[in-house]
Amino acid sequence: MQDMRIRRVVIVGGGTAGWMSAALLTKVLGAGLSITLIESDEIGTVGVGEATIPPIQVFNQAIGMNEADFVKATGGTFKLGIEFENWGGLGDRYMHAFGTIGRPLGLTPFHNFWLRARQAGKADAGSLWDYSFNYQAASRDRYARLDRIPNSPLEGIVEAYHFDAGLYARFLRQGSEAGGVKRIEGMITGVNRDGENGFIRSVTLKSGETIEGDLFIDCSGFRALLIGEALGVGYEDWTHWLPCDRAVAVPAENGPRLRPYTQSIAHKAGWQWRIPLQHRAGNGHVFSSSHISEDEATATLMGNLEGKPLADPRTIRFRTGRRAKFWEKNCVSVGLSSGFLEPLESTSIHLIQTSIVRLVQMFPDLNFAAANIAEYNAQVGFEYERVRDFIILHYHLNRRTDTAFWTACREMAVPESLTHRLDLFRQTGRIFRENNELFSEVAWLQVMVGQGLMPESFTPLADKLSDEQLGQYLADLRQIIDANVARLPGHREAVARLVASAA
Ligand SMILES: Cc1cc2nc3c(=O)[nH]c(=O)nc-3n(C[C@H](O)[C@H](O)[C@H](O)COP(=O)(O)OP(=O)(O)OC[C@H]3O[C@@H](n4cnc5c(N)ncnc54)[C@H](O)[C@@H]3O)c2cc1C
Repeated sequence: MQDMRIRRVVIVGGGTAGWMSAALLTKVLGAGLSITLIESDEIGTVGVGEATIPPIQVFNQAIGMNEADFVKATGGTFKLGIEFENWGGLGDRYMHAFGTIGRPLGLTPFHNFWLRARQAGKADAGSLWDYSFNYQAASRDRYARLDRIPNSPLEGIVEAYHFDAGLYARFLRQGSEAGGVKRIEGMITGVNRDGENGFIRSVTLKSGETIEGDLFIDCSGFRALLIGEALGVGYEDWTHWLPCDRAVAVPAENGPRLRPYTQSIAHKAGWQWRIPLQHRAGNGHVFSSSHISEDEATATLMGNLEGKPLADPRTIRFRTGRRAKFWEKNCVSVGLSSGFLEPLESTSIHLIQTSIVRLVQMFPDLNFAAANIAEYNAQVGFEYERVRDFIILHYHLNRRTDTAFWTACREMAVPESLTHRLDLFRQTGRIFRENNELFSEVAWLQVMVGQGLMPESFTPLADKLSDEQLGQYLADLRQIIDANVARLPGHREAVARLVASAA
């Protein structure tokens, strides 16, 4: 019988997507595969992408990465959530904190008890975030690895990382090359396809060298060299929902605090990120070029740095949307070549992770079964669309009247899937997570409440406690959280201790 196994994988691109793909493929399928990664120093990488979400830990563990070595090598810090300032209204502030909030009782999600207490006018119900361990730790710049709060039924800290994107790629490269990945530096100038079925057979470099492969992974960034340029797969444009199309980015010295969270500060026509690393802060201003000029966006960014800039600001252009198909013939797109939503909820690196994990789980043979490819495309498409809805939510749910940008975002028609979710929450306080979508009920809850949407009612199941029991339950939770946050070390100290333990 003919051997139909795939033997040669070619990864085009050496940014975060390329090296994450190389690292996981080598680790999981390495023995039977020859993996070649091609990258061009002349072109370089996008050079941003420094905030992550908790599942990155699963990826790092899967490739056998040691946390202390990784945090040391990448200038990493911990991230417990994202603080949003000026989003619902000017002067508003809330956090999308990772982890849970409060504790459900039986079948009743926690927020229903909180809503009941609020609606009964009980001032001591406090804010939703009084019941978030992550928020309470983050807002006091505290952090420790803590899976559960001791002597309680409550979950502990849930963390992700901030890291230097360039250093992360370098760190992954070291591991991948040690695992047998062959790296070629050079610019691809030609993509050669099979005359009959249109499959990619090889790529040609500027030097004249030709690299053949069975499976090609397009990690070439916004250029989408293989999936877009060579195979002609189109791009679904989502700028009517996500209108920001540029970012100006600059590294700067850190401010006085080492916050264990990302900051997202909304401005006139977009928002600014602040990402604290050990050695510097990443800063950027994502904006809509139809509403403000690049000069104005740059001035806003430079006027809102916490420390001295360490380089000249640079502009990155993008178009929000997704590739019409993520896998076409023998080419799978991973990273920016497959689409870009925008960095608001730090989802791009996560989408790289899930794409490459899916590819491993659905790894083809030389038959390239059509049903396998269709399934892959459907799963990645669903994930993109739900993340898209979550990001649109932040823009749409605002009460700002100070600029045309925010008014347009509030008044735009949003996808039906999002309208339904908003109606359901507004009318009943209910939120459901569908299939394997990325963001949990608690994530949606925080953004909806944080941006001013309070439901009209809550589940009758929340009435099973007496008023007294309810008051006691809420007070106990707040007390446990408060007492345990007070025992946590500072974030700076926790990072220093971890780095000191690295190899
Ligand atoms: C403003 C902004 C902020 C972001 N912030 C975040 C964030 O906080 N969190 C997050 O998760 N994500 C973020 N992202 C997304 C994140 O940066 C990307 O998902 C990530 O860097 C992956 O990029 P990539 O590897 O797909 O592409 P790139 O980094 O652009 O790499 C492309 C690679 O392809 C190579 N290449 C291209 N053409 C050729 C050719 N002809 N020949 C040879 N090689 C070629 C290049 O040399 C390079 O190595 C952000 C993105 C932007 C634009």
